[in-house]
Amino acid sequence: MPSSDPTTLRARHTLEFPGGYTRTTGPVIGRFLTELRDGRVVGVRTAAGRTLVPPLEYDPDTGDAVTEEFVEVGPAGTVESWAWVNTPRKGHPLDRPFAWALIRLDGADTALVHAVDAGDVKAMRPGLRVRPRWRAERTGHITDIESFVPEVTRIVSEVRVEYSLRPGLALARFLQGVAEGVLIGCRCGGCHKVYVPYRLSCPECGVPITEEVVVPDTGTVTTFAINNLPDPRAPEVPFVSAYIQLDGTDIPMIALVGGIAAHEVRQGMRVRAVWVPEEERTTSMSNIKWFAPTGEPDVEL
Ligand SMILES: [Zn+2]
Repeated sequence: MPSSDPTTLRARHTLEFPGGYTRTTGPVIGRFLTELRDGRVVGVRTAAGRTLVPPLEYDPDTGDAVTEEFVEVGPAGTVESWAWVNTPRKGHPLDRPFAWALIRLDGADTALVHAVDAGDVKAMRPGLRVRPRWRAERTGHITDIESFVPEVTRIVSEVRVEYSLRPGLALARFLQGVAEGVLIGCRCGGCHKVYVPYRLSCPECGVPITEEVVVPDTGTVTTFAINNLPDPRAPEVPFVSAYIQLDGTDIPMIALVGGIAAHEVRQGMRVRAVWVPEEERTTSMSNIKWFAPTGEPDVEL
């Protein structure tokens, strides 16, 4: 392109070797590229014992020739620094935003430059763990590694906690009853309210409770919730958990409702406990499979 300054002539030249420019690699780089073709990354040891990746023919620190010892490194490594490329150009390894990064592969003492396909600049940070994404067809070129990708550091896993409960005196008494197929409640001597499960003092008047009463296993649904997430205690999804006020008691207890489609459960519905067979009973609430409709007319709440 001619310059506007008439005393200086300038022209832009492009040096191109259509079809490729072949040069010999030398034994060190040649070994590196050959290993890449086979899906391995190697470095070369210097006389001082450092591992150069990519390998060089001379130790940059001393200028001495390197040893003939090659060591496999990585292939995973750690990002030391990077530059984010928002608009990839022709010839870039990826056609979407990526990072040029200095990556120190595990076992190497120097870092190599390569692309990191992190998806978002926010994913880049010093110390980011990455590993190579290899091309299926490899030719012995640095681009045999298409790019590096972040290692998977987070997975979604199911959590289930099992624990055993040491019941207090009152709950122990209640569960003892449950083991025998009986619901044990108590009556406050002050306000005469009946509570189930059994408790040792009245939440209303605070006085100690001494009178034990056996309450029926029938009751009325006061409120309920349809649950769409699985629960180890529930037989299926969706399932219904409900507050059930047992007959003759003054506060409801929470329990599963079954034997009816979830959407048919309603407030005021009459229910009865469905007990597991006697031989399967333990000292736990799982002795009651759930509460099922009795078929009686609904109760006005
Ligand atoms: Zn009371």
